[in-house]
Order: sequence, then C-alpha cells, then structure tokens
Amino acid sequence: MITRSPMLLHCSQPPGDRDLPETGAWQRQLAGAIRDPRALCQRLGLDPSLLPGAESGHALFEVRVPEAFARRMHPGDPADPLLRQVLPLEAESDISPGYVTDPLDEAEHTARRGLIHKYASRVLLIASPTCAINCRYCFRRHFPYHDNAPSRAQWDESLDYLRADPQLREAILSGGDPLAASDRQLAWLVERLDAIPHLKRLRLHSRLPVVIPDRVDGALLDWLASTRLQKVMVLHINHANEIDDAVIAACNRLRHIGVTLLNQSVILRGVNDDVDSLEQLSERLFEAGILPYYLHAFDPVVGAAHFDVDDARAQQLVAELRTRLPGFLMPALVREVPGGASKTPL
Ligand SMILES: *Cc1c(COP(=O)(O)O)cnc(C)c1O
Ligand code: SF4
Repeated sequence: MITRSPMLLHCSQPPGDRDLPETGAWQRQLAGAIRDPRALCQRLGLDPSLLPGAESGHALFEVRVPEAFARRMHPGDPADPLLRQVLPLEAESDISPGYVTDPLDEAEHTARRGLIHKYASRVLLIASPTCAINCRYCFRRHFPYHDNAPSRAQWDESLDYLRADPQLREAILSGGDPLAASDRQLAWLVERLDAIPHLKRLRLHSRLPVVIPDRVDGALLDWLASTRLQKVMVLHINHANEIDDAVIAACNRLRHIGVTLLNQSVILRGVNDDVDSLEQLSERLFEAGILPYYLHAFDPVVGAAHFDVDDARAQQLVAELRTRLPGFLMPALVREVPGGASKTPL
C-alpha cells in the first residue's frame, strides 16, 4: 500500500479535475491562432469585399484569433458580436479628432519598466507584452509593450518597489495578457509576491481563460493554488456568446482552487450596446460563476472610433438594465480619467 505524504497530497489534482486539458495544448492553440486577415475571412465564410479593409487594419494592428474563439462565431455573419471584436475594418484608418494613442496617459505613470502605480493600495504589473487575441477596440493597441517587457533584472526592480511600500495590499498582473506568459515565469513571480508580507491579494486581469479555455490547465492551477495570497481573476468578456461549455469548465477549475471571478466589459457599438445583450451577458456570466464588475465607457483610442458609444447612451442603457437585473448582476459603468485616484463612475 502506498501512503501519501502531505507533500504529495498537496501536489495531487483536486477532485473533479479529471478532465484537465492536456499539458501544452494551449501553447499549440496559441501558436496556431489565425494571424492573417484572409484566413480569418475564409474561416468565417465572409464576403471577399471585406478583405481590403481587413488588410489595411491588419497593417496597423495585427489580426490574432485562436480557433477556440472563432468556433463561437456564426459563419457568414459580418455582424457577429464576437467577429466584430477581432475583424479589422477600413474605418480603423480614419483620423478622428480627439482620438489619441495613449488615452489613459499611462506613459506618465510607468514608475518602473512594466509597473504602473496610479491608485493607492494596488500596483499593476505588465506580466506579458502579448495577448492571445487582438481586440480591435483595445485601448492598449498603441502601448509600447516592447519597452515594457521586463527582464529578470527589471522584475527585481519592480519587486523592490513593491517590497518598499507597505501601503500596497494587492499586486495586479496585467498586460497584454499575463497568462500569455509561461507558467514557469508566473510561478517565479508569484512566489516572490507571496513572500512580501504586506501583500494580501493577487489579482490577474486576463482574457485567456475565455479565449483559450485550455489555458486553465494543471500547470496553471499548481502555482495559483499554492500561494497564500487571496486570488481574484478579472476576466474580460463582452458578449454572452463568448461563454461556451469549455469556458464554464475553465471557470469551475479556477473557482475550485478558491479564485474569485469577476468580469469587465467594454461597451462597444455593434457588440453589446443594447439592453438585451447586456442583460444576457450578466445572466450568462453568473451561470459561469462570474460576477459583473466594470462596464468600461469607451476610450477614445485612434483606430477604434467606429466602436464608440457616447456616455449619455451608455448611461441610458445601464439605467434600463437596472430595471431588469438584481443589483449583484449590475456592472459599474466607469471611465478611466487620466490623473484620477480611481476609476470614475459615470
Ligand atoms: C484599473 C486599474 C487598476 C485597478 O482598479 P480597480 O478599481 O481596483 O479595479 C489598478 N491600476 C491601474 C493602473 C489601473 O488602470
Ligand atoms: S485581450 Fe485585453 S489587452 Fe489584449 S488586445 Fe484584447 S482588450 Fe487589449
């Protein structure tokens, strides 16, 4: 008979995780993502007239769509709410007055390479410069990630910054997408964050469990489960159709190890700028064990003016949403105002 040491027990998979994704599956899916506008149009059976616009947008910010996400789109429908988030359009080349490349003024607040400290008690770390998907409306589409992809030495500097400020209670891993980094790197970083006594919480802002649910595999669960820090993951889902059974299973694996799941969305014209879509999103999030957190007002980023929903309309949609949902399924409509001490409620 084999007796299991506490160490082995700690390392064994939690019950209910027999159907963990195969190791390495997510890296293969990421490497195999659609990265060409022609391939995207073909995969979705789109009218070839969309291709020139897609090519010109791609030249500004490259197409990237993993198959696991493309699978949730309706073929042949250029208005599909998931496709709209990733298909480049001619309109991205438009110059619109008031649209800027760094709407949040992040360049001002980058205290160290890869570290943004804007708000009291929490610091944002750019843990990976890349994403698993390229969202056309992304306010970071012009962010100089290459200057913000830290080396080990730079990480040590960031960690010193966190160690030196006892007012900090939370480290936020962001990006890009922090889960695009390897588990080895993330385990290294989280082990060091864990050792900073004044930190209480680890937060991850990631779209990867939604885009490639197999990202939530045994290797990820191992390092995430092993930290003493309380764990929060803020997912990024804009439409109910993004949540399929594989996403729900990934969320269950995360909740199983004690991760609190929240969601942030961006209000986007043609994706979720109607009350029915917002209502279905909140309902579907809760089915997956996720609570709505923020609904971001649109940021005026160059190349994405065609997604703009004005504040008055966003406020009206949220007021109507409130008449349909319990309070705990209401996201807070916020905007990030440069120089603000927090996100600003609208
Ligand atoms: C949004 C953001 C946070 C987190 O804000 P919360 O209101 O705590 O979700 C922290 N740091 C930066 C730089 C941010 O942009
Ligand atoms: S996953 Fe997030 S950071 Fe990456 S492109 Fe999409 S919105 Fe931007």
